[in-house]
Formats: sequence, C-alpha cells, structure tokens
Amino acid sequence: MILILMGPPGAGKGTQARMLEERHGLVQLSTGDMLRAAIAAGTEIGKQAKAVMDRGELVSDDIMVEIIAARISEDDCANGFILDGFPRTPAQAEALDRMFVDKGFEIGSVVEITVNEDALVERISGRFTCAHCGEGYHDAFKRPKTDGICDMCGGTDFTRRPDDNAETVRRRLGEYHRQTAPILPYYRDKGLLRQVDGMAGIDAVARQIEEVLEAA
Ligand code: AMP
Repeated sequence: MILILMGPPGAGKGTQARMLEERHGLVQLSTGDMLRAAIAAGTEIGKQAKAVMDRGELVSDDIMVEIIAARISEDDCANGFILDGFPRTPAQAEALDRMFVDKGFEIGSVVEITVNEDALVERISGRFTCAHCGEGYHDAFKRPKTDGICDMCGGTDFTRRPDDNAETVRRRLGEYHRQTAPILPYYRDKGLLRQVDGMAGIDAVARQIEEVLEAA
C-alpha cells in the first residue's frame, strides 16, 4: 500500500505516519526528516538545504525528486510506504507519477489532514522530539508520561526544530498555500483524494485514516 499524507505544517502528518508505520509495517518516508539527517551528517545537500529550511521556504524540486527517487528504490519500500512531506509542488507530483510508472507502483490513497489554521502556530511552536528515537511530543497536547523521559525509549534528551518558531511557521504556511495546496485538485481529479478532520484528537484522526484505508 502506498499512501500520501497531505496537509499544512502542523496538521499531524508526521504523528500519523509514525502510527501507520507501527500498525501496518509501512515505511514512513518523511522528506523533512531526510533533509534534517543530511544537515546533521554535513552532506552537500544538507548544506544547501539548511538555509532554505531555516527561512521556511521549499528546497528545489530537483533535489527533492532525486532524494525520493533514491529512497523508494530501496528494498524496504517494496511492500509499501507512506509519503509525509512529498510531493510539495505540482512538479514533484508529476515527477512522482513518472517514477511510479517506471517502478510499477500505484498510489493507494492521498489523505488530506485538514486543520483550522489559527491553531497551527500554537501546535507547531509547542512541539519537541526525543533526540534518541524521534518520538514526537507537545508542551500542551502530548507530554511524556514522566516529564523529561521519553515514553518510547527512556531517552532524556529532546530537541526542537529551528524552523518551528512563529515567524517561520507563517512563511511555511504561505508556501503551503502557494506551492502545495494546488496539488490537491490534481489528486481529486484522479479520484484519490480523501479528507480527514485533523482537529480531532490524535487517536480520532488515526481512526479516520483507518476508515479511508479500509474503503480504498
Ligand atoms: P517538514 O519536516 O515536512 O515540515 O519539512 C521541513 C522543511 O524541509 C520544509 O519547510 C522545507 O524547507 C523542506 N522540505 C521537506 N520536504 C520538502 C519537499 N518535498 N519539497 C521541498 N522542500 C521540502
């Protein structure tokens, strides 16, 4: 099964992708995570991407298409995957279609997680991640059961993304509307687009996505 998660920054794509990965054994392909790993590793792509990401803008289509083409060719993607953060422009959506034709892959569903944008700045600026296992948390909505200790792995170091501040979040939202939202009609016309209400709680959103998958 191949699933594409769409929605503005802070809609909960990463959280839902991680839950789907656990439930269905699908690999989560987060292009944001891949870029952050490239930055941490000091690669050439990471160096080019960092300034762009810190400004809240989009990394070039050429780089992103190359990254995702290499990643979906790896063995662990053969049984399906979840795309979280890709495609983000019409050119990326078209490039993905061409890659899928070459590989004999088919998109199962495109799930748009819809949210009230007034809530997004608060949602995003409160989030943090376990530095060891990557589990996501939030100051208001999802604190670790014991403060300072990751529920999943017991890690005690947490990180916050440099682009999760109010000003950059607003720029990322602008980019979403300008460059990413125009993809939605493309998938709607293909009969692939389903919407879920991202303002529901994390488990309720997960149930809605399960219903979409069952109906697909
Ligand atoms: P995310 O973790 O999905 O919020 O992505 C963080 C940042 O990485 C974005 O604001 C972009 O700068 C960059 N990025 C991630 N995925 C893409 C993509 N498919 N196309 C362009 N830029 C991307």
